[in-house]
Amino acid sequence: MNVAIIAAAGQGMRMACSRPKQFLDLAGTPILFHTIKVFEACDVIQKIIVVVQADQRAAFLDLSQRYNFKKLEQPVTGGVTRAESVLKGLEAAPESTTEIVVVHDGVRPFVTSDEIVQTVETARAEGAAILVTRPVDTIKEVDEGRVVGTLDRKRLRNALTPQSFQYSILRRAYELVDVLDPSLTDESSILERAGIPVATVEGNARNIKITTPADLVLAEAIFTQE
Ligand code: C5P
Repeated sequence: MNVAIIAAAGQGMRMACSRPKQFLDLAGTPILFHTIKVFEACDVIQKIIVVVQADQRAAFLDLSQRYNFKKLEQPVTGGVTRAESVLKGLEAAPESTTEIVVVHDGVRPFVTSDEIVQTVETARAEGAAILVTRPVDTIKEVDEGRVVGTLDRKRLRNALTPQSFQYSILRRAYELVDVLDPSLTDESSILERAGIPVATVEGNARNIKITTPADLVLAEAIFTQE
């Protein structure tokens, strides 16, 4: 069985809005529910575990009743960091029957079923696989306001989600890190710390992470184009 863990327990400080960004409306539906719909419709996913803040649990359960999701499990309460939130989701996945864990940001509603399938198939073959895109900007290394170097753009990738893993590999990697370490901003970095190889799958730049008010405007434009 393959289990999706959708991380939606962030505060959304950069959205400067009272509601966490994953609950903001995109074309009349909360962003998080657009995201869940893609996983519900994706044939390689059998269970969906959503991680939310404790104070959003009741609202999440109330909203989820409007949709007839068959794969959705009871929500799990998140942690202080993203890594801790995902670990809590991982602990809720059945140990004996989970083959692949697919971690996804609740605020990336434009992921496609094909992108999910590709990361799952690559993780099944290679252990771990993350969706990436090529950066369009030149990336500088900066120290105290001064440029100290230019990174070779050909070798760089933006790390998106889904990030898919064989269950036992992700569990083992989590045992080796401190989930409160703020530099662990994705699951790939947890495996990198443990020296475990991670494959990449080329994704589409439309799979944006809705983080700022400008992203929400872009998301509305992408949505109406579909
Ligand atoms: O903060 P960032 O934009 O990297 O968050 C990426 C995703 O991780 C979001 O969907 C957010 O809700 C989630 N997250 C979480 N628990 C936290 C922090 C972030 O589930 N403590």
